[in-house]
Amino acid sequence: MNYKYDDKEYMKNFIDGNKINYLIKNSNEPDLKELTDILEKSFSVCDALSIEEASKLMAVKSRDKWELIFSYAEKIKKKVYDNRIVVFAPLYASNICVNNCLYCGFRSQNKEAVRRTLSMEEIKKEAEVLAGEIGHKRLIFVVGEHPRTGAEYIAGALRTIYSVKVEKKNRINNIRRVNINAAPMSVGDLKIIKEAGIGTYQVFQETYDKNLYLKLHPQNTPKSDFEYRLYSHHRAFEAGIDDVAIGALFGLGDWRFEVLGLVCHAKELEKVFGVGPHTVSFPRLEKASNSAYDGVKILDEDFKKIVALLRVSIPYSGLIVTCREKPETIRSVIPFCTQRDASTKIGIGAYSERYSEQALKKQQFELGDTRSLEEIIGELADMGYITSFCTAGYRCARTGDHIMKMLKSGRESKFCKLNAVLTFKEWIEDFAGPDIKKKCEKLIMKEIKEILSEDQRFSIDMKKMFFSYYQKIAEGERDLCF
Ligand code: SF4
Repeated sequence: MNYKYDDKEYMKNFIDGNKINYLIKNSNEPDLKELTDILEKSFSVCDALSIEEASKLMAVKSRDKWELIFSYAEKIKKKVYDNRIVVFAPLYASNICVNNCLYCGFRSQNKEAVRRTLSMEEIKKEAEVLAGEIGHKRLIFVVGEHPRTGAEYIAGALRTIYSVKVEKKNRINNIRRVNINAAPMSVGDLKIIKEAGIGTYQVFQETYDKNLYLKLHPQNTPKSDFEYRLYSHHRAFEAGIDDVAIGALFGLGDWRFEVLGLVCHAKELEKVFGVGPHTVSFPRLEKASNSAYDGVKILDEDFKKIVALLRVSIPYSGLIVTCREKPETIRSVIPFCTQRDASTKIGIGAYSERYSEQALKKQQFELGDTRSLEEIIGELADMGYITSFCTAGYRCARTGDHIMKMLKSGRESKFCKLNAVLTFKEWIEDFAGPDIKKKCEKLIMKEIKEILSEDQRFSIDMKKMFFSYYQKIAEGERDLCF
């Protein structure tokens, strides 16, 4: 069968590089009235801003105006997703790769990299540790680009991970959602992984600046095809996957270009499919073992601006900050974010096996935050955020245009709140040590009080159902959600 977005004919570059460069150079700093109007529009309508509007925000120089942008970024996050932070863990399953991206430790010409691909049995062991010992419910499964780790391998891994059930305290712990970060695929291959139960399909463009892209991804590799990568999500939609994630690797070039590129990408998906990206990622380039491109340094203060700009410019999308960043950097942007990873290990097989110092140095990049899930949950609680293990959206068919409408209207936030409390309660019962338990229980009580006092968002029936679920979870039932 022929599919539209498998055909190069339909892959026109929708990133207008000249226009983006023009806007970066020529946008003037908005006065307070214009700035407030743009921010207020983002907050009230929750549609993606135009790149003209986003570039005006970028042109802001005064400290006070940046503080205003930060405060709106925080308000928007709270309106759309409430005060919860969803946690997940990455599962790196293979570092064989046919590409030779100059900035990456896994690139094919890095002869020092120790190559490995996990078998299904090894993937199972990783999932057992993640679900049974740490308490994760959501993973992102990561592989490089190689014929041995194509769609069939990924589909097998999905089935393997979903089959893992670990018994603890007479309760079953399992991974309920697996997102995929993998190479661009054909529509046919994407159908195979959809069938196996993919959550979100995540492909990062790395850089939206085509000239830079072509320099960093050598000609004789599959990844050198800028447009094929740019249309990864189009093909996913065509395959029936309506939950997609975009991202750029900040530090390859000018960060302003990447922010506007991401806005263009979100708007293109909205225009063609009526659905923007579920999440946006903004990893910052980290020193990789034996890489051939060091990139451009992104200062911490600019990183905070990047995250706030993305929050305001694409208000309905989740934003993911990762353990690449140091704890203090994560703390500075977490008010704008919706997801983070925790207890992360990026070595292949690193959750279930002991990893030597030397092997750690040969990972794809170096981690900034190596704290345990429990430590991170404690810190989030101190900051007033509830950790959520919710995986309900995808399993309750709240994806695609359905979830877009819910997010833009602020209606999804009530589900976020209820499911955060329910899944957090599960984690406390099953995994929390005595020290953290008290702190978590206190936070849950505060959340329940809020639910009780908010009549507008929660109907009486919803509150009744919530309390019945909460009670059942306390008694040992699992996986009850809205
Ligand atoms: S960035 Fe990805 S595609 Fe490029 S060499 Fe590394 S693993 Fe392969």
